[in-house]
Order: sequence, then C-alpha cells, then structure tokens
Amino acid sequence: MSEVETPSNFIQNKIDQELKSAKFTVHTRFPPEPNGHLHIGHAKSICLNFGLANQFSGICNLRFDDTNPNKEDMKYVKAIQEDIKWLGFDWGNQIFYASDYFNQLFEFAIQLINKGKAYVDDLTPEQIREYRGTLSEPGENSPYRDRTVEENLVLFQKMKAGEFAEGKKVLRAKIDMSLGNLNMRDPVLYRILKATHHRTGNKWCIYPMYDFTHGQSDSIEKITHSLCTLEFEDHRPLYNWFLDELEIYHPQQIEFARLSLNYTILSKRKLLQLVEEGHVGDWDDPRMPTLSGMRRRGYPPEAIREFCERIGISKSNSTVDFALLEHCVRENLNQTATRVMAVLRPLKVVLMNYPEGQVEEMDAVNNPEDPDAGTRKMPFSRIVYIEQEDFMEDPPKKFFRLGPGREVRLKHAYVIKCEEVIKNELGEIVELRCTYDPETRSGSTQDGRKVKGTLHWISADHAHKAEVRLYSHLFKHANPGDEKECPDLKATLNPDSLEIIEEALLEPSLKNAKGSYQFLRLGYFCVDSQKSSYGSQVFNRIVTLRDTWAKIIKK
Ligand code: ATP
Ligand code: MG
Repeated sequence: MSEVETPSNFIQNKIDQELKSAKFTVHTRFPPEPNGHLHIGHAKSICLNFGLANQFSGICNLRFDDTNPNKEDMKYVKAIQEDIKWLGFDWGNQIFYASDYFNQLFEFAIQLINKGKAYVDDLTPEQIREYRGTLSEPGENSPYRDRTVEENLVLFQKMKAGEFAEGKKVLRAKIDMSLGNLNMRDPVLYRILKATHHRTGNKWCIYPMYDFTHGQSDSIEKITHSLCTLEFEDHRPLYNWFLDELEIYHPQQIEFARLSLNYTILSKRKLLQLVEEGHVGDWDDPRMPTLSGMRRRGYPPEAIREFCERIGISKSNSTVDFALLEHCVRENLNQTATRVMAVLRPLKVVLMNYPEGQVEEMDAVNNPEDPDAGTRKMPFSRIVYIEQEDFMEDPPKKFFRLGPGREVRLKHAYVIKCEEVIKNELGEIVELRCTYDPETRSGSTQDGRKVKGTLHWISADHAHKAEVRLYSHLFKHANPGDEKECPDLKATLNPDSLEIIEEALLEPSLKNAKGSYQFLRLGYFCVDSQKSSYGSQVFNRIVTLRDTWAKIIKK
C-alpha cells in the first residue's frame, strides 16, 4: 500500500553488516510487562522485533517481564497475546516468562554473593535513596556493605524463607558508590514482596528487580539483538556488569527512540489512571491509544504496521504527528471500505412532484477504487433526508449545496431544486419543499445546465436508525505526557472527545453491517462491538475524510 520502498533502519543495516562476516540466526524478543494493555508505542517495538526476525528468517520471542506481582495480572497476559496476533505477528512456540527464570536468577544472586559482589542491606528504601548521592555528588557506602559472604548467604536465604517483613532488607550489588552512573551505585537486586504472583503463586516472597532480570533473561534465551528504548542506554553498563560477573552469554543491546505521538499519552501508568478514574470507558475505549482501543475504533492492523514502517527507527527522540497515523488509516480504508450513505443530522426534504408511494431502486457504486466491489441498490422515494448543514437559507456564493431556488444532485439519484422552506413556530427550519428533475436520473441535465453540489441522502421510509459516535483527540493539549506543561492530566482532557448522535439515519444495507465503511462526505466508520443504550447498532467514526497529512507531504 505504500508508494515508497520500505525504508531500512540503522539496526537492519547493522545486522546486514554483521551477517557479512559471520553466519548466525537473528534472535530478537518483545518483552512486555503484563501490567496493562499494549499501546501504539509497543506496536513500534513489536513491528521492529518481529519485523527483523521475519526479514532475516530469524526468531522473535514473546517474553513477559513479570517481576512485579503487585501490578501484574493474567488478564493482561491474555490481552497482550491477542493484540500481538491482531497486529499480524506470530511467536509460534517462542513464548517465555521471566518468572520461569526465578530459580536461575536466585542462583545468579547466590553466585554474586559468593564472589563478594552482592550484599544484604538493612537500610530502608528512603535511606537507600539518601545514600545514593546525586549526579553531582558521589554516594555513600551502606554500613551493611561489608557483611561477610557467609552472613550474606544466611540472610539472603532467610529473606527467601520469609523471615523478614517487606522493606526490611534487600539484596544489593556491590559495585561502586562513587561512579557517575547512578545505576551502578550498588543497585538493588532483590526486594521482599509478600505478594501472590500470577504464575508462581506464593512460592516466592522475594522478587528480582527489573534490571537484575532483563539482561539475564536475554542471555538465557540467547537473544542476539536486545533492542530497547533510549532510556536504557544508562542501564547497559549495569547489564554488562551482571553478564561479566556471572560469565554468561552477552546479547548485544541496541537502543532506539521510543515513539511519542502528539495529543496522546503512551504510559501504561497514566492510561490505567484514565481507566480507573472513569475518564474513558475502559482500556479498549475507541479514544485510547491502546491496540485494543484502535481495533475497536476500526483502525486496520495493516495501517498501524504501515505507520510503524513510515516513522522509522532512529537514535533521537521526537514527537510524531497524529495526522500521520490517521493518514495511514485513511489510505488503507480508501482501498477497502464500501461507500455508503448516512445522514447524521437529518433535514426533511419532500419532493412535491415525485409520485406518492413510488419507490425506485438506485444503483450505487460500492467502491470507486475497486471495480470488483460491484454495486448495490438504494431505495429512493418522495421524502428523503439530507444533512442539516447541507442547506443554508441565505448561502454565500461559494456554498455549492442547497439554498432557496438552488439546485443540487442527490448522489446516485436526481437533481432537485429547493422551492420552499418550512419553519416551525420557533423559526427553525423543519422541512424543505423541493422538485426533482426526472430527466436527471444518474446522468446530466437535458439542457446542459451545470449543477455543482452533490449531496448524500436517505429515503425516509427506508432509513435504518443507529447510534453514531464521533471521536476527536482525548486531550486538548498537544503534549499531554509532559509533566511540566501538563502537571494535571485531568485538566488536559478534551471535554469534546466524544459526541454521540443517538439516531442517525443510515441506508438499509447497513442493517447487516460488518467491518468498515466510508459514509459519503462524512468519514470512515465501523460497527462497534457493543450496542447502544436503546439496543441499536453503534457506528464509530474511525477517521474523518479530510487529510491534513496529505497536505503536509505535498508541500
Ligand atoms: P510504559 O511506559 O507504557 O509503561 P513500558 O516500557 O514500561 O511502557 P513494557 O511492557 O516494559 O512497557 O514495554 C515492552 C516493550 O515495549 C519494551 O521493550 C519497551 O521498550 C517497548 N516500548 C514501550 N513503550 C514504547 C514506545 N513508546 N515506543 C517504542 N517502544 C516502546
Ligand atoms: Mg518497561
């Protein structure tokens, strides 16, 4: 679908080079923590890791980084798998859990203690922070740092046996409290958590820290290219220290820029906050940047993959314009979506010279982009509805829609002329009396007069009623994730991100709607997985028709 060649990225080029001097199987992994649902940022990482494995006929593992039982849940494990499959990737049998390595990681910790490279510390979490120092000042050694190997072994076993309360003791690496890299100042390796783990149950009451787990898990799985976001550049020396001290296989860590999108937050913690505080329906609310939200909204997975291709992979952080994602969605739907008619805010039009009781079946093209998509019949009759905004009583010159005495074409049907405007006692327009030109059925006027505007319409007697939901950005601020600019997430929410039209009028073919459609002149819509409060179908607006991105790239 893309008009450009798939761009290559620096990681791909690097692997290409490496393969010139050595034969090996490229082995990547996607390592989500099952503490929330996947979002579009994760899609970037999924496309990169699974994409490289596909490209080089390698392997990509799905590994759940499940080291924090307080925040993780089996329901997220399931949802993450569903989202990756939907996006179009397959891990085959390559599914792993960091919790499968808990025994091994415990042994690694014992090894470090035996080498005099780890110690049990009694400082409280606050004290550990105080002792750590700052970027400009070195840290201070803990008074417990010089415990003997024997003492450390005993204490660590007691930690494992549940003899101490949470927060009373931790295991720390013994590196150097004066190093410039704060991650290297005796980081915590294990903490006590009396929590039930979603996979290991109550077997453990000490859990390895993410930093003590991640690199070793990559090593155990013999990952060749461990791809992570730039924040982890400062953790790389620590991961290398662990691998060196433990004398185990070294994956190659390569950092890349994480995705940020304007008008969007990509932090699971904040997305969870939106759900818990009820600002959105759930994780799959169609306004959420989650993959489940985008699926429900009607974004095709192909469009998300295309987006990830186009943004590329770089070494410097930047913010991507949401309009690019919408552009990819539109481009895909333009090829695939059936064109139909729907009227969101109806205005009644009576065709005074059209025979009462007559119904004609108009031929409507399903998709002008796809000749194989064929045509369908649309009933036409004496009373039709048009969009309120397609009529103006006192229109300016350039308004090529309907006005008193003006003509427009009704798509796939006739040219009509507005003869009379009917108002209620409040002065509101409630009906238009028009005439139709019987000579213009799906063709031009007999006398060659020009009719500029074409409107969509629905036959009153045949209208199918459904709820339509119009979405816009969830945030009114362009950079809602910036805590300095937007300290209060709630205050940055867009109060108009959801508009509900309870009774829109749709063409009858949509009674059995499945998938995505273009509502002519209105946008792309898809059937929601839920019904409305009165039991009707719900249609989500996937994206509007106007493409601001196409304009940007034309410039
Ligand atoms: P969050 O900040 O949303 O909680 P996370 O990094 O803690 O994200 P993980 O489940 O650990 O979430 O992420 C799994 C993988 O996805 C990691 O390898 C991480 O680097 C990658 N990832 C997460 N967010 C992004 C992003 N915005 N852009 C690119 N990759 C991302
Ligand atoms: Mg993470």
